[in-house]
Amino acid sequence: ERMMEIRRQNCNPVTMKITYYKKPVFIHQGHMQWLWDVDGKRYLDLFAGVATVSLGHCHPKVTAATQRQLKRLWHTTNIYVHPTLHEYCEKLASYLPDPLKVIYLTNSGSEANDLAMLMARLHTGNFDMITFRGSYHGGTQQTMGLTSNSPYKYPVATSLGCTNTMNPDVFRGPWGGSHCRDSPVQTIRDCDCAQGHCMANDQYIGQLKETFATSVPSQIAGFFAEPIQGMGGAVQYPKNYLKEAYKLVRERGGICISDEVQTGFGRTGSHFWGFQGHDVVPDMVTMAKGIGNGFPIGAVVTTPEIAASFGKAFHFNTFGGSPVACAVASSVLDTIKEDGTQQNSLNVGTYLMTELAKLRDKYEIIGDVRGKGLQIGVEMVKDKASRDPLPPEAMSEIFEHVKDMGVLIGKGGLYGQTFRIQPPMCITKEDVDFFLAVFNKAVHGYMD
Ligand code: PMP
Repeated sequence: ERMMEIRRQNCNPVTMKITYYKKPVFIHQGHMQWLWDVDGKRYLDLFAGVATVSLGHCHPKVTAATQRQLKRLWHTTNIYVHPTLHEYCEKLASYLPDPLKVIYLTNSGSEANDLAMLMARLHTGNFDMITFRGSYHGGTQQTMGLTSNSPYKYPVATSLGCTNTMNPDVFRGPWGGSHCRDSPVQTIRDCDCAQGHCMANDQYIGQLKETFATSVPSQIAGFFAEPIQGMGGAVQYPKNYLKEAYKLVRERGGICISDEVQTGFGRTGSHFWGFQGHDVVPDMVTMAKGIGNGFPIGAVVTTPEIAASFGKAFHFNTFGGSPVACAVASSVLDTIKEDGTQQNSLNVGTYLMTELAKLRDKYEIIGDVRGKGLQIGVEMVKDKASRDPLPPEAMSEIFEHVKDMGVLIGKGGLYGQTFRIQPPMCITKEDVDFFLAVFNKAVHGYMD
């Protein structure tokens, strides 16, 4: 007890700033969708360590596979081939369409996107990158440049002066932000939002074309997009928007990268990969988080042609594709199949969205409910007429109240105005009912 009190007092408030800063939560144990803090209090985890623990904390099958590998071989560095690596890469490749068959394993999503940037530049001979507003692609210097969501960026001095963009060579497309608030506005429902603020779908596409015509260089290296923006607050694109963007990028010699760090591995329910919901085939797919159910591993998957441009130098990554990481990730793929995880994501996610929509209709401060499968955003507004974001203090009040009642959720969005629900995909309808009662109470409590 005393040790915990000392640790509580010594905890670094900077690392706590985006979570429960009023009273930090000290988690020390987990099982499937449940977590326990040091005082023995149980929480329903609806954020999964930011959409990472895809199958459940300490999932017995994944834990057993990890333990088997830990007894056999931990590490070789990728100068050798080991059977676990070989088997895993073949298995992972079988989940991707042709010609996406060459795999590079990393330790994180940022590393995967960093590598993808390098490969795009080497392959095309171009330099510039395109991303959408509200996107998050990583925290390394290069990927922070791609990231277009200011809370995650540090201002760095450049020859142009102090800038918050990190890489001046990254151009940002129009998409992203908050539902129906900014210009250009957006909605998941092809502009049939109840408030009627949204533009028709072809207007969005027109705007995208206009942006490319006026702001994007004629030669580009790559375009990164999350099929559904994660940190951006479960933001979705209008129909055919991503498909059109791919076309415009390819016309400029660029390659298209699908950042599946949050949307991959069945999270969206209807598809294994998020890009499959957009009728596109990327030139590269990057992934992390759910790939290892919480174990550090990431990957870039690309075509033999792009890989060939990259093969000229010696690429080295000490931990990427370690035997243990491969054993974990291999077991994750098997378990998704065996447990019917993707189907559960679809079923439970659809139920949760339907029920949340009822709360949206009931409360003036719930502006939008959106997402797919178990990647869900609940956008909070001051009122439905203004759609101004609910201020951070109000968001925190609801967020902390939900936590006090035993449920952990996430926050995101350009204004921090969106609650995010991306749980381990093993959650049940009973868990959803528990959360809905808690959330209803917290919103009601705030409004009183
Ligand atoms: N891409 C996306 C879409 C992400 O959500 C994240 C992490 N939140 C990253 C990349 C970076 O991944 P990591 O934190 O593993 O470096």
